[in-house]
Amino acid sequence: MSQTNSILIEKKDSGYIGENIREQDELWCLHCYDTFPANKLKVDVFGNKQGCGSTNHPNCDGAGFGIDIFKADCKFAVGCRRSAEEEKARLASMTEEEKREEYIEWNFRREYKVNKKNNFLNEYHQDWSSTKVLKHIERFNECICAQSGLIRAESKRERLVRLNAPTICIQHEVKRIEQLTHEFKKLLSRKTYRDSFHFVMLQLLDEKKLEKYKRDYGKKYAAEDSLMGRIRRLFSLMENVSCAEDAYKISRRAPGSAFSGKKQR
Ligand SMILES: [Zn+2]
Repeated sequence: MSQTNSILIEKKDSGYIGENIREQDELWCLHCYDTFPANKLKVDVFGNKQGCGSTNHPNCDGAGFGIDIFKADCKFAVGCRRSAEEEKARLASMTEEEKREEYIEWNFRREYKVNKKNNFLNEYHQDWSSTKVLKHIERFNECICAQSGLIRAESKRERLVRLNAPTICIQHEVKRIEQLTHEFKKLLSRKTYRDSFHFVMLQLLDEKKLEKYKRDYGKKYAAEDSLMGRIRRLFSLMENVSCAEDAYKISRRAPGSAFSGKKQR
């Protein structure tokens, strides 16, 4: 028997359930940020007894020693909890308006104002922190996100086909694309979301400048280029929104249509 094996057995005999982890140890989960005793560990999806055992978050899917599950007193876990506490304190000291401003700055303004030269924000717009602007940006981002997920899934399917992947893998991706398409269409079928898209395009962005950039550099920069990629996605969302609007107009005109006379959400 090798030395390592005997050490492991020795450890197991003395209450070790993982390398350096004993039953009486306090553990911490990176997913739910909760601590729990090691004897509460659950069996994870891989069949190992390394799943999060938090009683406050019974559905947490955190799993794996050194992946999601750590000893509560290790440097990493202590550091994470400390920064979470600092963040909590920072948020508590901010006004609601400051919080909105922060979201808008990091989730919108910096996406479209890369530097002085590449600034696609409508600089005439004054209000960058109201609840109304935040709501529109949140819905706009939701649409962008749904579309990006769909684009990624489509290019994955293309890649699988190109690589001659097993049919079942391709079929799985096709199913996922169907699901993502459905979700994306559902989003664009809602008037509030389309209104938010138009609000962002008309009030918050400089559409002419975006168009000019796309025209001037569209060929020069590959689609992967982050700014050009963002701008391309914006224009394809514009097409998708307009398709959704056309579909709505046509279905409303059709006699006996389910949409006719119904107020849109
Ligand atoms: Zn957890």
